Amino acid sequence: MQAEVISIGDEMTSGQRLDTNSQWLSQRLGELGIRVMYHTTVADDLAANVRVFQQAAQRADIIVATGGLGPTADDLTREVLAELAGVPLVLQPAALEHIESLFARRKRPMPERNRVQAMFPSGSVVIHNPEGTAPGIDLQIPRAGQSACRIFALPGVPAEMRQMWSGTLADAIAQHAGSKRVIRHRLIKCFGVGESDLEAMLPDLIRRGRTPQVGITVSGATITLRITAEGETPNVAYAVMDSTVATIHECLGDLVFGEEDDELEHAVARLLVARNQRLATTEIGSAGQLAHWFGELPDELAGCFCGGQISSQPFVLTIDPQAAADDRRAKQMLELSLDQALSHPRADYALAVGIFPPLPTAGQPAREFFYGVSSRDGSLRAVRSSPFVGHSALVKLRAAKQALNLLRLELLHAQPASDSNAAR
Ligand code: ATP
Repeated sequence: MQAEVISIGDEMTSGQRLDTNSQWLSQRLGELGIRVMYHTTVADDLAANVRVFQQAAQRADIIVATGGLGPTADDLTREVLAELAGVPLVLQPAALEHIESLFARRKRPMPERNRVQAMFPSGSVVIHNPEGTAPGIDLQIPRAGQSACRIFALPGVPAEMRQMWSGTLADAIAQHAGSKRVIRHRLIKCFGVGESDLEAMLPDLIRRGRTPQVGITVSGATITLRITAEGETPNVAYAVMDSTVATIHECLGDLVFGEEDDELEHAVARLLVARNQRLATTEIGSAGQLAHWFGELPDELAGCFCGGQISSQPFVLTIDPQAAADDRRAKQMLELSLDQALSHPRADYALAVGIFPPLPTAGQPAREFFYGVSSRDGSLRAVRSSPFVGHSALVKLRAAKQALNLLRLELLHAQPASDSNAAR
């Protein structure tokens, strides 16, 4: 059974809004074992919509569409589906009642225009929308020589669409597909080597046709291994992945820093929180990347961050900014920055990044960026540099991640913190 996801709206085709509904729906369909073969995005245009749905109904067994169910003249999905099925639009009294009750709850009269949201292609089924005035449409389009194509049209508002998926669609689609299998994924996050080196460390894991399947992607030097397995239940699918996950950990060791949505700052923050220790950051030329990441930590981890100092240019005025190009002086500047960050009374560690202008440009020899870490108890003081040869837009990200990884590895291998830290 194959599916197509259709996203409707000028907002998406004009580039004003990113179509995140298709991404989310495709993940959910995949979890039900249904392969999504096409994503189509179409503007608010009747003829274009009819053509898109006609084509999709030929090549997909299930269509999930979002958008175009509002009350305004540019909301065309009802008409499109009626034309596709060759049936009239008819009023569904129960849907109208629900829309009226939503307006009554908001203590507002229902504008006459909203009546249109209770009009459905004859023969279709209403999909309940508990929080919104746009009910969804469940419609079957007969196809010569094969089973009907089933269309589910949902409102574009992501929160409503997701609620309707969980409340109605997930079960309806699983039942329709007669799906006895589910698909689940696990993500393993790694940092510290290049993609090909990492692949070479994994014995034949990233091979087409392997069960469970392992894929590899890279984003901003973070490598993600995506493991995919099928099973009769989610637990069975996860169990199929267990030995592969164990092999990955065995082969990669400390290169693995987390799972699923983890980023390096989460890994570092968890280590600090477990030791009841805190961090201050100091950044030159990195646009406050570290402070931004630590500022976005969830509440349970946020307490490990004391604050960050951010400057666009070298701010330690005792050193000539022009001299920053000189490695030795740049390192010195970073050490001074680390000392300054450790002047925060609650900081156990300081983390520093230094990217000194000018940024590298194409054709010029590689420049170095600097990063360092220092501990209040004096046991740790390291400043490193790495050549930066990629696009200059990535240097800030790369430098901040190198710094985080340096601290992560130090924390992993350091002795447990002494109790005296708990007192501060
Ligand atoms: P309503 O008009 O009742 O809000 P609708 O079905 O007409 O529902 P749209 O008007 O198409 O939905 O979209 C409503 C809002 O939902 C859009 O302004 C946009 O913010 C968001 N939205 C729509 N489609 C998508 C999409 N594919 N991905 C992410 N957001 C979307």
